[in-house]
Amino acid sequence: MDYFNYKNGKLFAENVDVERIVAEVGTPAYIYSKATFKDHLQKIQEAYSELDTTICYSVKACGNINILQILAQAGSGFDIVSGGELYRVLQAKANPSKVVYAGVGKTDTEIIEALNAGIGYFNVESEAELKNLIRLTKENIDSKNTQPKVALRVNPDVDPKTHAYTTTGKKETKFGVCLERAQKVFADYGRGEVLKLCAIHTHLGSIGLSVDPYVEAIEKILALIEQLRADGFTIEALNIGGGYGADYITAASPTAADYAAAIVPLLKGKGLKLILEPGATIAANAAVLATKVLYLKTSGRKKFVIVDAGMNDLIRPPLYDAFHFIWPVKADKKFVPPRRDKDLQLDGTVVVDVVGPVCESADFFAMDRALPPVKRGDLLSIFTAGAYGFSMSSNYNSRGRAAEVLVDDDKFKVIRKRETYGDLIALEK
Ligand SMILES: *Cc1c(COP(=O)(O)O)cnc(C)c1O
Repeated sequence: MDYFNYKNGKLFAENVDVERIVAEVGTPAYIYSKATFKDHLQKIQEAYSELDTTICYSVKACGNINILQILAQAGSGFDIVSGGELYRVLQAKANPSKVVYAGVGKTDTEIIEALNAGIGYFNVESEAELKNLIRLTKENIDSKNTQPKVALRVNPDVDPKTHAYTTTGKKETKFGVCLERAQKVFADYGRGEVLKLCAIHTHLGSIGLSVDPYVEAIEKILALIEQLRADGFTIEALNIGGGYGADYITAASPTAADYAAAIVPLLKGKGLKLILEPGATIAANAAVLATKVLYLKTSGRKKFVIVDAGMNDLIRPPLYDAFHFIWPVKADKKFVPPRRDKDLQLDGTVVVDVVGPVCESADFFAMDRALPPVKRGDLLSIFTAGAYGFSMSSNYNSRGRAAEVLVDDDKFKVIRKRETYGDLIALEK
């Protein structure tokens, strides 16, 4: 699942000792593995190779331009949700025609930038947005996108049974239009000259552990596409979004091949280009967050391990109730973890809460977790931190954002410097 492994009791990122990186870069630090990014992308590319497929990596999962560049060179397109993300992918020299742009609240400025860049598809989320896109396209006749392509985001009303905050494909969410409404949108706009409404987009949310919601959604959407085609509309592509499960726990999620085995047969021979927008499945396993133990303390029945990373660095545990495997960077033979799981049942572990220094009770990485005994100064690795880790980080409590380090085989380089105090106030007047 990734290239972070223990060798002789020491955690390695590919062929670099994590301790050696930390000695140079400090903590907290996001440590990325180039090989893991490429491996996950390649597995998805291979799984869907029977169909005419474009993988559009979801930039919001992890958007450092060095990483975008690696993925672009490996053939990835990009799923963006803002002008800032468009800027990033253009800086990374991505092919704009392989960029798709979703989001319920695109501003005029952002839309014009995307028109000028010549992106592949606007994933439009409402009729009001579609109207606005038509207006802006007419006004910007100099743009590269003389007749922009639009995928209508539909909401197939399936429940991926994930956390409420990461469910996006139910009727009650703010995303897309419902299936019934989609027909009306095509009737009203599907024959227009200004843009080409020629694709369907959907995204069920993150992070499913089952392929069933995809099958259910695709079946519903194929019925819609059949109807639309019967009414004379051209539908050239289906974008099934992202949300595929990543291996937060060893081998707990379906693999890319498992998803494809259920999805590809549904779409074979349907005359549809397939677009996928994986974020977490490419990025999650590709990083660890290295942090240092500052203090140990006991309070009532609780034992706390206080570390130097905080919720401003990685907010997924309090925000989504997310599980991240946490383990010391150095582990005696008997403590080398056989797998990453919630409860390893190893002799000699101690049940602790792993918490950060931020002034919030929500500042935790793990509650009641069995860890090998640790002491002040030890390094911990928070695994599977590559997706929605750094990209969701903030300066809360006036804490500079962590350094980002990219490992490539036996070499590493800093791809984003640790923020300084000066950076914290640089824009303030
Ligand atoms: C966030 C997002 C994705 C990626 O989701 P993952 O769970 O990271 O795979 C894909 N498409 C859209 C529209 C998104 O908003």
